[in-house]
Amino acid sequence: MRPFAYERAADAAAAVALLAAHPRAKPLAGGTNLVDLMRLGVEDPDTLVDINRIDFGGIDDLEAGGIRVGAGVRNSDLAGSLSVRVKFPVLAEAILAGASGQVRNMASVGGNLLQRTRCLYFTDTTKPCNKRLPGSGCPAIAGSSRELAILGASPSCIATYPGDMAVALSALSASVNFLTLDGEREMAVDDFYRLPGDRPELDTNLPAGAVITGITVPSLAAGVRSTYRKARDRRSFAFGLVTLAAALHIEGGIIVDVRLAFGGVAHKPWRATRAEALLRGSAAEIERFEAAIDAELAQATPTEENAFKVALLRRLVVGTLVDLSLEAAP
Ligand code: SF4
Repeated sequence: MRPFAYERAADAAAAVALLAAHPRAKPLAGGTNLVDLMRLGVEDPDTLVDINRIDFGGIDDLEAGGIRVGAGVRNSDLAGSLSVRVKFPVLAEAILAGASGQVRNMASVGGNLLQRTRCLYFTDTTKPCNKRLPGSGCPAIAGSSRELAILGASPSCIATYPGDMAVALSALSASVNFLTLDGEREMAVDDFYRLPGDRPELDTNLPAGAVITGITVPSLAAGVRSTYRKARDRRSFAFGLVTLAAALHIEGGIIVDVRLAFGGVAHKPWRATRAEALLRGSAAEIERFEAAIDAELAQATPTEENAFKVALLRRLVVGTLVDLSLEAAP
């Protein structure tokens, strides 16, 4: 690991000021991803700005029915919150599907949002990689791509976003709160993450030097059923090959609302807007579920190695929607 300076910020404004003063600095929260990447030589900040002593707030119920969660809340605490488990089971299940208990005890909400891809070439500094070293090439496209993207990839990068929590947040239409030198801002999770395009080195649209202060999750209507499903190579402590955050609201056999977000298949949590549009207002029947996911996956561009993900995701979506519709049945 290369030498770096250490600063501790007393509050969010001080953290933003320190990041502005040190353009190569990184904020340090739980450090569960950042420190690993520093040890590998992938991340090379000249300064770590410790934000662990900052009071970003806890888990607060909002008057409108949603919740606001401070960036420093640990993943274990968020998953174990009664409010989250009752209001947003999909979010609690997504967090518990990720990492291990020990990692979840350390990992913060803000840091979880910023975890980086686990593409093998990205973490191997002996290999070229457009995300780590822009313009050096993408060996994954003709190389090992089994875990990589089938949706929204570019000729520059086919990496996948590896997290679980943000996939649930996408389905819940949540937003990210952050502080910049210009003040407080809020951005929808679906806008926060980006596709690689020709700038794969950028994972998110978070402005440089901004500090994430929390997330806001709006309420779901009464009667919505939600869940998180993860298909992976082993039962625990493994990243998802394909994951699904799903929420379904049925009244009288008709789908009033549906939310579908996929993980492990794109550079960002993939909100399945085509499938959702086809399903809203339609009968809750397996044929409709199949037609909707087929329409969504018509835009998939898998590699030879990861073509299996298309069929796997299709089965995951159809099976989950069937299960949720049976739960919702009177
Ligand atoms: Fe790097 Fe992206 Fe290519 Fe992986 S897929 S080697 S992260 S450019």
